[in-house]
Amino acid sequence: MTAKVRVAVVGASGRMGRTLIEAAKQHDMIYLGAAVERTGSTLIGVDAGELAGVGTMNVAITDSLDIASEHFDVLIDFTSPESSLVHLDWCSKNNKAIVIGTTGFNHAQKEMINAFAEQTPVVFAPNMSVGVNLTLKLLELTAKVMGDYTDIEITEGHHRFKKDAPSGTALKMGEVIADTLGRDLEECAVYGREGMTGERDRNTIGFSTIRAGDIVGDHTVMFADIGERVEITHKATSRMTFANGAMRAAYWLSDQDSGLYDMQQVLGLN
Ligand code: NAD
Repeated sequence: MTAKVRVAVVGASGRMGRTLIEAAKQHDMIYLGAAVERTGSTLIGVDAGELAGVGTMNVAITDSLDIASEHFDVLIDFTSPESSLVHLDWCSKNNKAIVIGTTGFNHAQKEMINAFAEQTPVVFAPNMSVGVNLTLKLLELTAKVMGDYTDIEITEGHHRFKKDAPSGTALKMGEVIADTLGRDLEECAVYGREGMTGERDRNTIGFSTIRAGDIVGDHTVMFADIGERVEITHKATSRMTFANGAMRAAYWLSDQDSGLYDMQQVLGLN
């Protein structure tokens, strides 16, 4: 595969949307065909039609995927769960692949993604950075060695505007650890331990959340025993790391059949 892959960014004036457009413009193998945003969206004062640099390029700027359709093959979607499902439905009907970075889907919505992926190539990952996906591998190894006898706590911090908590990345980390230990995350997760009395149950996985300022994304997983503990930390300092991961995912996905894929597969980590 040598030709450039034509992408569209939906949610173009959002925090990630604007970063994705920058990343697409810089990527040698990606052609930015369209930027799609809701009519009237002026998030943080930026309108889709005023996106830095885009106005001077040959990019379709629109609020309609139907209009953008002829300009792209892979849709990159960092919006909201409800919007992403609408876009996924559209992609499955219009023969397009889709990279979904949105987080905060509930169980039923994830089932819908699974079903759509039977007829659509989909990369779905709550975190597209190389570092976090490597961290998931380290967590698997650590859980194998220490998970049965340690207290496992996951702490995450994000900017004040983030809508979901705990983060999709924190939940993914919990899922990887729970799967490795043969546990069901829905049964063993504990969100916050305020007002806890009595001894901590070692079979649980704890989640704590911080929302403050402009934190891009911090995650720490602690495996704590009496006498020692291992802490695995990832800190993202720029949204560009997620956007570059999304470009890698779009390029990789353009060559795949229908199916649901994650970043581990995109990066060849499994
Ligand atoms: P944001 O609120 O800044 O941007 C979302 C944008 O999507 C907004 O501009 C909104 O108008 C637009 N939008 C929503 N519905 C739309 C629709 N139907 N059509 C067109 N545009 C639509 O949010 P953000 O900080 O950019 O984050 C977006 C999502 O990406 C969140 O779920 C966040 O958690 C997730 N995220 C994922 C990763 C990752 O690596 N996977 C990294 C960062 C953020």
